[in-house]
Amino acid sequence: MYEIDQEKCKKDGDCADACPTATIEKKDDGTFNVGDDCTDCGACESVCETEAIHLAQ
Ligand code: SF4
Repeated sequence: MYEIDQEKCKKDGDCADACPTATIEKKDDGTFNVGDDCTDCGACESVCETEAIHLAQ
């Protein structure tokens, strides 16, 4: 499962647009969260300008 470093995230939503399973959701406070349908494909990581999204350790 991928996770988002909220301190690095600029909240532009590029990861959500790139996700083939549409599992990255924007919450009411403007932050993004990775949902349960993540397949660890890495598509989001490759488009994130600030390297805020990565595979959870
Ligand atoms: S790794 Fe793939 S499936 Fe998981 S959140 Fe990123 S783009 Fe979506």
